[in-house]
Formats: sequence, C-alpha cells, structure tokens
Amino acid sequence: MATVGGNLMQRTRCPYFYDTATTCNKREPGSGCSALNGFNRMHAIFGASEHCIAVNPSDMNVALVALDASVHVSGPKGDRIIQIQDFHRLPGDQPDKDTILDRSELITSVSIPASTLTHNHYLKVRDRSSYAFALVSVAAGLELDGKTIRQARLAMGGVAHKPWRLKEAEQSLQGKQVSIETFQQAAEIAMRGAKGYGDNNFKLKLGPNTIVEALKIASRI
Ligand code: SF4
Repeated sequence: MATVGGNLMQRTRCPYFYDTATTCNKREPGSGCSALNGFNRMHAIFGASEHCIAVNPSDMNVALVALDASVHVSGPKGDRIIQIQDFHRLPGDQPDKDTILDRSELITSVSIPASTLTHNHYLKVRDRSSYAFALVSVAAGLELDGKTIRQARLAMGGVAHKPWRLKEAEQSLQGKQVSIETFQQAAEIAMRGAKGYGDNNFKLKLGPNTIVEALKIASRI
C-alpha cells in the first residue's frame, strides 16, 4: 500500500544511498559518489552529473510525465501548481534534493488533463518478474487516425534522476505513418546524448529497444 504523493517523493534505490559504510553525495553532501566507479548497473544514462548518477525508481512518475500531470501543493506562502515535468530535479551539484518541493510544502493532489491519446502502453523491463525496479521503462501514448500519428507522448524511467520525457522523439513521430522504421528513428533520436558508466552500458541498447517495443504494443502493429 502506498500513496500517490509518496510515490512522487520516493527516493533512489542506489545501494550506496542506503549503505552508510560508503560515500554518497545524496545521503551526505560532499562525501563523494561511490557509484561512479562502483556497481552502477541500475544507474542513469541521461542527465547525470559528476556528483550523482542515481535514477528515480518510480513507474507512476513516468506515466504521469507522459500524461502531462500537474502537482498541486500547499505551503506557508500559499498554494501553487507544479508541472510534473518540473517537479523532479536533475542532480547537478545538489543531488541531495530530489524535487523542487520546499520542505514546508505539502502535496495536496495530482491532476491529469483529459487525454486524446487513443493507444497507450507502459512497458517495464526488469531483472525479475515481480518486486523489481525498472532497468528501463517506457510510457508510450499515441493519438492515431487510422495509421497516421496525430500526436505522440513518450517518457522513460530507470534512465535519469527524474522521469525522462522524450520531446524530440515525440515530435519526430507526429504526422508519420505507424511503422517499425518510424519507431526505430524515434528511438534513435531519443537516445541522443545517452552515456553509460560501465555496468549500465547495456541500457544504451536496451533503451531504444524498449522504446520501439512499447510503441509497437501501443499501436498494435
Ligand atoms: S549515484 Fe547518487 S545516490 Fe548513488 S552513491 Fe552516487 S551520489 Fe549516492
């Protein structure tokens, strides 16, 4: 059992974050990052910094990003609405901060706008079939008119410190006909700038494969 707010706020599963015998900038700022040259199979391929290469472990957050959700928060300075895309942070030089939520603010609700997406799928690739966090996941949403893609939404999980929206890949799909080649081109665009850290280099291949597979299942071709 969990809450939506709790899921939004869940912290990384990086093993060094939980092992107090090791250094970790997220747990103890300035101490160093054990994962950089350590066991980093689960770690980021996008948006990492020299201070932290951890990933956000949530599945729900990835789907909410693809659905353009908004997070409603309340605090001493009043209420505000944060676009989900802006809610989680990249590590930069302050990896101890996962979100832009102020310590005195409280999440009160999450809203999801009405969607025109007609074909959707969430594909999660993991080491075992239950109770495992994503190695790579993809939330894919398409608005199809016959075989023509009117609109596409794509977000990845298990690859960055925040749910990773694939805007350029989405734009590349718009107006195209549904096909494996079109999906492969979008996946190639999505992976631009990806970087492995050793143990997680397999994600550079698993990432585009998962994007193509998620789009295939969503479009039912
Ligand atoms: S990747 Fe981030 S959470 Fe993991 S050891 Fe490095 S600083 Fe800590």
